[in-house]
Amino acid sequence: MKKDNTPPEILAQIRDRKNELGEELLILTHHYQRSSIVDLGDFKGDSFDLSRKAANSKASRIVFCGVHFMAESARILCAERQTVQIPDEEAGCWMSDMADHVMVQRAWNELVAVVPTDKVMPVTYMNSDAVIKAFCGQAGGIVCTSSNAGKAFAWGFAQREKIFFFPDQHLGQNTANQMGIAPDEIVIWDPAKPLGGNAPQALEQARVILWKGYCLVHTRFTIAQMESMRKKNPGAQIVVHPECTQEVVNLADAVGSTSFIVDYVTKAAPGSRIIIGTEINLVQRLADDHPEKTVLPLYESFCPNMYKISPGKLLQAIEQPDRNKVAVPTDIQAGAVLALERMLAL
Ligand code: SF4
Repeated sequence: MKKDNTPPEILAQIRDRKNELGEELLILTHHYQRSSIVDLGDFKGDSFDLSRKAANSKASRIVFCGVHFMAESARILCAERQTVQIPDEEAGCWMSDMADHVMVQRAWNELVAVVPTDKVMPVTYMNSDAVIKAFCGQAGGIVCTSSNAGKAFAWGFAQREKIFFFPDQHLGQNTANQMGIAPDEIVIWDPAKPLGGNAPQALEQARVILWKGYCLVHTRFTIAQMESMRKKNPGAQIVVHPECTQEVVNLADAVGSTSFIVDYVTKAAPGSRIIIGTEINLVQRLADDHPEKTVLPLYESFCPNMYKISPGKLLQAIEQPDRNKVAVPTDIQAGAVLALERMLAL
């Protein structure tokens, strides 16, 4: 794991500015942020928890320490009087970049030329741009997180025959597996190929169509790592995130979102040995917060995008209220709100 060498003066300046600004300022930090950032925040959580915190807060200024799609979701759910800043505009997400709106619209047009629109429900993962969320909202679809993907799929199937899920193939695959959908009813859509690389008949027969996107952080975990860790730690439980491959998920003792993993460790009995397959900053912090348990990483998998947010950039955002303000055009916001509200009503 990278060593954080933030000068103490910067941390002190942030604390001073926070005290001066009081309730006017809210700093939100994602679980995958480095500890110095999490320690400076008002709340830590997963992307959806944090957006809700932003929307329910009285603060007029929100600084979101996470990646861009998260700050954008907070912007979508916040009131107009509030501003949302991200300390580094370059903090994107590889997975969300794997499905841009041009690619998704082209795929949708190709798909509905084979299967009627009223048979396919678009479902997008929270880890997507506002434009993709708006596309889903306008096409009758929904947003989901890793904790409610099963509910969102069930909601989709109650209305239409098929789910078109993007951008994370693995979350979609693991959700479909959990729902008992047969492997021959699941197809992968490769955006680089016509019809996603599928024959029209395969698309007609499929119940779940999965965009070929993935998180580099979570697909680094392997069965070989699990076997080796089990050998070295007899009796340990392995908990992984559902963005891992289905082979890894199937071998794990438990699977769930970042909030699920935090809860799992918190509730484990003292003396437990837990091996975790998710971003290393969260695993390290859980280990530090629970010295009475042994918490180990399955492998040190690190998200460089999350690490782009540093205390120095956080200080710049706090000192310059107009710096890196996140904006979402009104029509995009309206469509995205539809998809997000459907999720909230689940
Ligand atoms: S951990 Fe994966 S999904 Fe999350 S921000 Fe990093 S690249 Fe994106």
